[in-house]
Amino acid sequence: MANSALYKIGYGLYVLTSRSADGKMNGMICNTVSQVASSPDRLIVSVNKNNYSHDIIKETKAMNINCLTEDAPFSLFEKYGFASGRDKDKFAGEQVFCSANGVPILGAYINSFMSLKVTDYSDLGSHGLFICEITDQAVMNDKPSMTYAYYHANVKPKPEKKSKGFVCKVCGYIYEGDTLPEDFICPICKHPASDFEPIK
Ligand code: FE
Repeated sequence: MANSALYKIGYGLYVLTSRSADGKMNGMICNTVSQVASSPDRLIVSVNKNNYSHDIIKETKAMNINCLTEDAPFSLFEKYGFASGRDKDKFAGEQVFCSANGVPILGAYINSFMSLKVTDYSDLGSHGLFICEITDQAVMNDKPSMTYAYYHANVKPKPEKKSKGFVCKVCGYIYEGDTLPEDFICPICKHPASDFEPIK
């Protein structure tokens, strides 16, 4: 069974921010945020277990969802999505604003944020699923929200034609070579070989 229908699902793009118990602030790019119940509102957020944010949120039970706008530049995706907070302080040298839960809020390129408190957790294998309630929220402006489709069409750089190999459909990373190993994991965004396509 081919997985191609999965690519027809629409997603938004967010920066998920968190703060470890010892005060380290972190942020990651996330496309798996959905409201799944109301009165009270409940959201689900799925995070790859390889991400440092997964461990922080599992421990602290707190995160912010920063809703990105269409004017967010590719450099923002590089900053939050192409490095791990284990190795790098993604807020180094910045004046950081935090919501009441002590978790950072992005200063630009967002139209709103929500502070979430984790009430339940489900182990999904590759990912951990956080079921959350909203503890705080604000809308900053009415700019359109960044979707995955908009990112692919307008933000992500196009691969250079001269390269030979496979390109990650998620982040644009290029694997150079004639065959892509089946168990290959994108070093940038951690997506599997099935998310790569040959460069034409
Ligand atoms: Fe990738």
